[in-house]
Amino acid sequence: MHRLVRQQIAKATADGRVDIDLFVDLVGRAYDDFDRDRRRTDRSMALMIDEIDMVNRNLEGLVGERTRELRAREADLRTQNLHFEAALSNMTQGLILHDSSGTMIVCNQRYLEMYGLSSDVAKPGCSFHDLIAHRKDTGSFKGDVDEHCSAILRKVARREITQTVLETAAGQFIQISNKPLADGGWVSTHEDITERRRTDERILHLAHYDLLTDLPNRAHFRGELERALERVQRGERIAILYIDIDEFKSVNDTLGHAVGDELLKVVGDRLRGCVGKNDVVARLGGDEFAVIQSDVRAPTDVSELLKRIYERIRAPLECGGHLLTTDASIGVALAPDDGTDLNELLKNADLAMYGAKADGRRTYRFFEPSMDARVKALRALEVDLRKAIVEGAFEIHYQPLIDLRSRAITGCEALLRWRHPEHGMIEPARFIPVAEDTGLINQLGEWALDAACAEAASWPDHIKIAVNVSPVQFRNQTLALKVAAALAASGLSANRLELEITEAVLIRDDEAALATLHELRRLGVRIALDDFGTGYSSLSYLQRFPFDKIKIDRSFIENIAASEASSSIVRAVVGIGAARNMTTTAEGVETEAQREILCKLGCTEMQGYLFSPAIPAAEIARLLIDSGEISTATPAKRRRTPRTA
Ligand code: C2E
Ligand code: CA
Ligand code: CA
Repeated sequence: MHRLVRQQIAKATADGRVDIDLFVDLVGRAYDDFDRDRRRTDRSMALMIDEIDMVNRNLEGLVGERTRELRAREADLRTQNLHFEAALSNMTQGLILHDSSGTMIVCNQRYLEMYGLSSDVAKPGCSFHDLIAHRKDTGSFKGDVDEHCSAILRKVARREITQTVLETAAGQFIQISNKPLADGGWVSTHEDITERRRTDERILHLAHYDLLTDLPNRAHFRGELERALERVQRGERIAILYIDIDEFKSVNDTLGHAVGDELLKVVGDRLRGCVGKNDVVARLGGDEFAVIQSDVRAPTDVSELLKRIYERIRAPLECGGHLLTTDASIGVALAPDDGTDLNELLKNADLAMYGAKADGRRTYRFFEPSMDARVKALRALEVDLRKAIVEGAFEIHYQPLIDLRSRAITGCEALLRWRHPEHGMIEPARFIPVAEDTGLINQLGEWALDAACAEAASWPDHIKIAVNVSPVQFRNQTLALKVAAALAASGLSANRLELEITEAVLIRDDEAALATLHELRRLGVRIALDDFGTGYSSLSYLQRFPFDKIKIDRSFIENIAASEASSSIVRAVVGIGAARNMTTTAEGVETEAQREILCKLGCTEMQGYLFSPAIPAAEIARLLIDSGEISTATPAKRRRTPRTA
C-alpha cells in the first residue's frame, strides 16, 4: 500500500475503526495537493524550457555574430595582405625580411632587380648566407661572404641598427639599413641613392666652384690657402699669384658679355694647364684669378710658372668669331716670406698685382713692403684724375718730327701732360694706364684729339699732327665718328692727322680693329704703327694693314751705335717700309751719331731730344717760326695758308 494511503488510513482510524468520510476527505485533499504540486511543477518546467530556449537562441546569435566577425577579419586580413604585397612590390627600396635564424621570409621584386638576382634562389626559405653567396656569384657583392654574414647576424643579435653605403660595379650607390625586429629576425632595406648623392655633390660643387670656368671660387680658394698655410707651418714654402686680365672691361664693353665670358673660360683652362698637380687655380670673381703654387723650393720655381702662364695666356685665341689676344698683370706673395696670415698674404698679393698694373700692366711684380704706400698713392691718383678731367687740368705738349735728310719739321706728336696742383707736371706713363683701367681714357683721348686738331689747324698746312690713340679708346665703335667730328670742328684736313696706334690694338681683336682702321682710312686720316718692335710678332701686323708709317721704338735706337742686332733690325724695318711705301720714323734720337747711322740705314724721319723734347703749344709755334716753317712777318695769317701759297 502506498505510504500516503497508509498515513491517511492511520489518520482516519480511531479506536481501530476507519472513519471513511474522513479518509475520503483526506484522500480528496491529498489529490488536490498532488494536483497543485503537479501544476506547480509543470509551470516551472515550462518556465525552465522557455529559459533554455532563450539561452539557446542567445547562443546561436552569439555564434553567428562571432562567425561574421571572424569572416570580416579574414576579409580585412586578405585586403591587408593585398595592400602589403602591393606596397612591397611598388616600393622604391628593395626590402627583405629574415627570421631569427636568418631564413628569408619575404623579399620584394625591387630587391631582386636592384642586384639582378634570380627569383629561383632569392625566395622565401632561402638562407641569408645563400643569398649573399648568390649576390657574390652575380657580382653585386664584393666582400667575404662568411665574414659579412656573421657580422650582420652578430649585430642583429645585439639589436644594433646598421647602415652602410655600397658602391656597385656599375657606379651606383646603394644605402643598406638593417633593423632588428622583436622576434629576433630583421628587416633590411636597400635604397638606390645615386641620384641623391649626385644632387648633393652638385650642390656642394656649386657652393665651391665658379659656374663659368668650373674653377674653385673665392670661398674654396680661401679653404685651400688655409690648408696650404698649415703646410707652411711645417716648413713648406708657397707662392700666391693674383692674376688680373688686362683691359678685360673693354672686351666686355665692346664685344659683349658672351665674348667676355668665353675669354674668361679659355683663360681659366689655360691657367689650369700651367700649374702642377698640387697647385690650385681659382677664379676670385670678374677677371681676377689666383694660383697657389705649392712646394716652392727655389725662386726659379715661381718665375718658371710665371713664364708658362704668360706664354699660354698671350697665345691668340678665338672667341665668338673674334681673334683675341689677352694679357695679364700678376702679383706674387710668398709664404712664409711675405707673411703667414691668410688675409695679410692675400692683401700683399693684391698689392703686388696693383704694382704690376701701375708699371704698365702686361707684367708681374713680387710683393715689396713699399707697395702698400704706392697703391694708396695710385688710388689717390685715380681720384685726382677724375677731378682733373672735370677741371681741365691737362695740356698738350708737342714734339717735332724731323725729316732725317732735310732736317725740316714734318709734323708734331701731341703728348699729354697733367699739371697737378700738388705734384707738378705728371708724365703720361703714370696716368695713362690708370686712365685706361678706369675707362677715363675715352674722355681724355677725345679731349686730346680735339685740342691737338684745333692747335694744328693754326700751323702751316704741310705740318702734320700725330695723336696717340689708346687700344681701349680704339675699340670704342664710335672712334671714327669722333675723329670726323674733331676734323670738322677744327677745319683740319684729314690728311694732316696721323693716328698713332700700338699693335695692342690689332692683337686684341683683329676683325673689329681692322674694320675701324679702314673706316679711318676712308676719312683720309693717316695711320702710324707706334712703338714698333716692343710687341710679340710685329712683322705680321705690317701685313694685316697698310700703315702709312712705322715708328721704330726708342729701345732700338738707344743701342744702334753699339749693337749690331739693333742696327740690323732697323735696317730690316726700313727695308719693309720702303717696299711698302711707308715712312719710317726713329723714336728717341738723342745723339748726332744715332742720327748719322739712321740716315745711312735709310730711315725717313726722326723724333727725339736731339732736336727737341715735347714743348708747350706756344713754344712749338715759336719753333715753327724759328725753323722757318712759318714766316715771322705774318704769323697769324700764315697759319692757315699752305707753305707753297
Ligand atoms: P710714345 O707715343 O712713344 O711717345 C714718345 C715718348 O717718348 C714721349 O714720352 C716722349 O716725350 C718721349 N721721348 C721723345 N723723344 C725722346 C728722347 O729722345 N729720349 C727719351 N728718353 N724719350 C723721348 P711721354 O710724353 O712721356 O709719353 C709717354 C707715352 O704716353 C707715349 O709714348 C704714349 O704712349 C703715351 N701718351 C702720351 N700722350 C698720349 C695721349 O694723348 N693719348 C694716349 N693714348 N697716350 C698718350
Ligand atoms: Ca706715340
Ligand atoms: Ca712711341
